[in-house]
Amino acid sequence: MDYNINNDGYYGDFGGAYIPEILHANVEKLRESYLGIMNEPAFRAQFDALMRDYVGRPSPLYLAKRLSGKYGARIYLKREDLNHTGAHKINNTIGQILLARRMGKTRIIAETGAGQHGVASATVCALTGMRCIVYMGQTDIARQQLNVQKMRMLGADVRPVASGNKTLKDATNEAIRDWCCNPADTHYIIGSVVGPHPYPDMVARFQSVISEEIQKQLQAHEGRDYPDYLVACVGGGSNAAGTFYHYLNDERVKLVAAEAAGLGVDTEETAATIKRGKKGIIHGSHTLVMQTEDGQIIEPYSVSAGLDYPGIGPLHANLASKKRAEVLAVTDDEALAAALELTRLEGIIPALESAHALGVFGQKKFKKDDVVVLTLSGRGDKDMETYVKHYGEMGIL
Ligand SMILES: *Cc1c(COP(=O)(O)O)cnc(C)c1O
Repeated sequence: MDYNINNDGYYGDFGGAYIPEILHANVEKLRESYLGIMNEPAFRAQFDALMRDYVGRPSPLYLAKRLSGKYGARIYLKREDLNHTGAHKINNTIGQILLARRMGKTRIIAETGAGQHGVASATVCALTGMRCIVYMGQTDIARQQLNVQKMRMLGADVRPVASGNKTLKDATNEAIRDWCCNPADTHYIIGSVVGPHPYPDMVARFQSVISEEIQKQLQAHEGRDYPDYLVACVGGGSNAAGTFYHYLNDERVKLVAAEAAGLGVDTEETAATIKRGKKGIIHGSHTLVMQTEDGQIIEPYSVSAGLDYPGIGPLHANLASKKRAEVLAVTDDEALAAALELTRLEGIIPALESAHALGVFGQKKFKKDDVVVLTLSGRGDKDMETYVKHYGEMGIL
């Protein structure tokens, strides 16, 4: 079985490019160009140099001894939290900004929910001297002030979106509208393995630097270049796609994806798209979508802003439906407990999203000799308010 994308832009039944006619030329140009550009030696050299000198790669593969002791396996953490800007998103935005420049674009647009992808996009625009417009819902602007301030300091034009619920979905619609009107000079940087083909494959390839490094690092640590398990959280699915990429067709390696259950998979307050979603189309991709009987998108909920997306990358919809990946749903409370546990056992405060991946250890037993690599997608600085409030209510802090 081949779990990579096929020539038509599908992973099994999932993927494709379901877009309005007016966007067709833009997406088609990108589809024709991306692989050729990414394979150019000069492009590769630029990307690799920025990964090393700007992002700080390779990110360490750290054997977490106290966490391993507690759960009885050899647990390694892939430290994407140590990247410049604090998460894995920068790998993708650097890739796309170089691609945009190579395609002659001068203006960048992006959408953002919590602001993490907006900050990563504004960062690479400052780095390359490109114009940057970030669409963000008014609700999100109000609750993510620090990231809004960072984007503005980096020189981005943050445009409030007042339609709908004033959150990520509405910001995305606005970005798409912008792209329709400015096809010649503008590149749209999507922040995860979602959207129309070729975005899911392009983003997965930029993020695959993660699994490429895991292979080399495991060889050095363990004398073999593959683990027994890979574990990652899934919002749209880009850090998980990067973690799984070089192991997709290696059945010795078991893949575990953690999605956000919110208050519980069987409640209305959830973002567990794989468990609760049905086939449908969202943002140009045929995938699993949380939707009502008549196909209206259901607003997702998770304590973690980076995971509350009502869709899922088509790569992951296929891995789950073919049972290549095991999908576990981790609740807010389980993630919050896991975040505190990692902090106290290893001295690492994880992002709330990454804490959902850590929540897997409370649900799944591993054997003593199992080698488990878990991707710590980001650091917890941005989540301190949530942590302090929650642990305060519990009387822990
Ligand atoms: C955005 C984000 C995620 C979720 O995005 P994916 O595309 O699913 O990886 C996970 N962790 C962190 C730290 C994030 O900022």
